[in-house]
Amino acid sequence: MLIAANWKMYNGPAATAEFCLGLREQELDGVDVVVCPPFVSLAVAVQLLAGTEIAVAAQNVHWEDEGAFTGEISAPMLLELGVYGAIVGHSERRQHFGETDESVASRAHRALEAGLFVIACLGETEQERERGETEDVLRRQVSVLEADDNLVVAYEPVWAIGTGKTATPEIAQEAHAFVKTLLDVPVLYGGSVKPDNADELLAQRDVDGALVGGASLDLESFTSICRAATRS
Ligand code: PEP
Repeated sequence: MLIAANWKMYNGPAATAEFCLGLREQELDGVDVVVCPPFVSLAVAVQLLAGTEIAVAAQNVHWEDEGAFTGEISAPMLLELGVYGAIVGHSERRQHFGETDESVASRAHRALEAGLFVIACLGETEQERERGETEDVLRRQVSVLEADDNLVVAYEPVWAIGTGKTATPEIAQEAHAFVKTLLDVPVLYGGSVKPDNADELLAQRDVDGALVGGASLDLESFTSICRAATRS
């Protein structure tokens, strides 16, 4: 089981340091834990989690190693910092920053080639689900990815991200099983995962972990989700 914390645009270096010092003290055997702070907080997270089993990943990565790409960060830069991996294709990147399946694929491809671990996000919107297009959307989003030992997919229905609306365990299981027919990689669930719904989501056969947004900002709630993973 893998539990990843996506901090989005929260937790600058000072808050990250406080969180990581607290996280170090937790007993989290039996679960793989990844924290994904904003770019400015990666260095302090890497430093404070060195020597632990907890990995640090970025929230995005560019497909070129360097160049005139203002505001972007490359895989070699992340590796130089000691960062272990990166999220690509988060729905907030697709929704607000024009990410497409193709740009997500380029980011994932280069990051994997450079030796990073990648969490590639996908999922349907509420309208797509209502129109019965969920499988078509997932098929299209998965079609640009290639299986790799360092790739995991996060199924994050857009209607469940930051909304408090969680997919039922049955909806999550069905989507995960479908994704796995297309690509043989572990699949995390993301979308309003909280300590009180983590057990039943993580108990589903094809749910291999969780990508946690809001509930990962609080140390106690995040570690309680990590502990739920050790029970599944
Ligand atoms: C996310 O940011 O990937 C996410 C799933 O957010 P939340 O847990 O807040 O819905």
